[in-house]
Amino acid sequence: LNSGREGALRALCAAPHHSALLSDFDGSLAEIVTDPALARPLPGMREILLRLSGLLGVVAVVSGRPASFLLDRLAPPEGLRLFGLYGLERVRPDGTVELRVELDRYLELLERLAEEARERLAFAVVEEKEYSLALHWRGAPEEEPAVRELATELALGSGLVLREAKMSLELLPPGSPDKGSVVRELAAKMRCVAYVGDDLGDLAAFDALDELEAGGSTVVRIAVAGAEAPDELLRRADLACADPGELLELLEELARRLSDSQEG
Ligand SMILES: [Mg+2]
Repeated sequence: LNSGREGALRALCAAPHHSALLSDFDGSLAEIVTDPALARPLPGMREILLRLSGLLGVVAVVSGRPASFLLDRLAPPEGLRLFGLYGLERVRPDGTVELRVELDRYLELLERLAEEARERLAFAVVEEKEYSLALHWRGAPEEEPAVRELATELALGSGLVLREAKMSLELLPPGSPDKGSVVRELAAKMRCVAYVGDDLGDLAAFDALDELEAGGSTVVRIAVAGAEAPDELLRRADLACADPGELLELLEELARRLSDSQEG
C-alpha cells in the first residue's frame, strides 16, 4: 500500500501539466450519509482540489449527482471541472450547465415511472435525477429484493437501462454516458491519469484507465475503501485510501510536492 501511495504521487508529479486527477463525489470527496441530500465535501477538500487544479493539467469531479448539486457543493469551481449525471452534464467555465445528449423525450416517461415506483415501494427512496431515476434501499435494506424486481420490470417495460450503484439501482435512457466516457475524453493529451472512486459506478472509469494503460499512458486507480466499497473495485485499485480523510491527506501531500518542485 505504501509503495502504491509513493508510486501514485511520483506518477502524478512526473509531468504535472500532462497529469489528470479525476474523482467521484459521494464516498470519495464526501462521507456517505443516510440522507443523500445532506452530503458535503470533507472540510478542506474543495480547497485542495482548487489548489491542485492550478498545479495539474486537469482536475475534475465526475459524479452520478446532477451538476446543480455539484455546483452547490463545490462552487465557484474556478479551474475545477465538474461533470454531473455520469457525464451527461458538463459545467461550463461560466458556471452554466451543458446537457450533452438530447434526452427531453424521456422526461415524461421518467416522471411516470417515478410515480409508479413511489406507489409500489413502501420504504425505498425514489430519487428523480432530471434525466434518470434512482431507487435507493439505503435505510431500508429489507426492500432490496422488491426494488430490484420493480426496477427490472420498469426497465423491461420502458426500454430504459439499469445501472447498479451503492444500495440503489438507477434507470436511465439508453446511450447515456458513463464515468468511463468522461475519463476517455479528459485523458486526451494527458500522460498520466488518476481516478478516485468508491462504488460500482466507478468501475467504468477503471475500465477506461485499463484501456489508457494498454495504450501506453500511466494510470493510477485509487479506491476509497468505505464499508460498502465493492470487492472488485478494491481488487483492481493500485492504491486504497481508508476513507475520504485519507484521500485528503494524499491530495495535500501531492499539492505540497507539486508546489515544492515548482519553486525548486
Ligand atoms: Mg461514490
